[in-house]
Amino acid sequence: MKILKIDHLGIAVSSIDEKKNFWTDALGLSLEGKETVEAQKVTTAFLPVGESEVELLESTSKDGPVAKYIEKKGEGIQHVAFRVENIEEALAELKEKGIALIDKEPRMGAGGAKIAFLHPKATSGVLVELCER
Ligand code: ZN
Repeated sequence: MKILKIDHLGIAVSSIDEKKNFWTDALGLSLEGKETVEAQKVTTAFLPVGESEVELLESTSKDGPVAKYIEKKGEGIQHVAFRVENIEEALAELKEKGIALIDKEPRMGAGGAKIAFLHPKATSGVLVELCER
């Protein structure tokens, strides 16, 4: 498996419109449009930072994973995403190493990326996303 870089940090917020100002006005990052991924009940907004990005996540529904995260832990960093060269290969390798996976097969994420989540019990509580673009 080859990890290329930290692709993005996924940050759960109650509202992208209400919370984006810190990132755009105070830090001066630019928001590259919003996209809703209905399958994951989430609206995302990406803000590039050098080689990586900040991904703001807003739930579209009270029972979505981001809403549940905020309910349990409050707003904050919800996941770390690593960009891999080949996501199918990476998942097969991790499965072979006995790492618990949430997604055994990649699914479609925002921006047409192929993504898969590893189980936090395998990663010291950090929700890790693999993505290939
Ligand atoms: Zn993500």
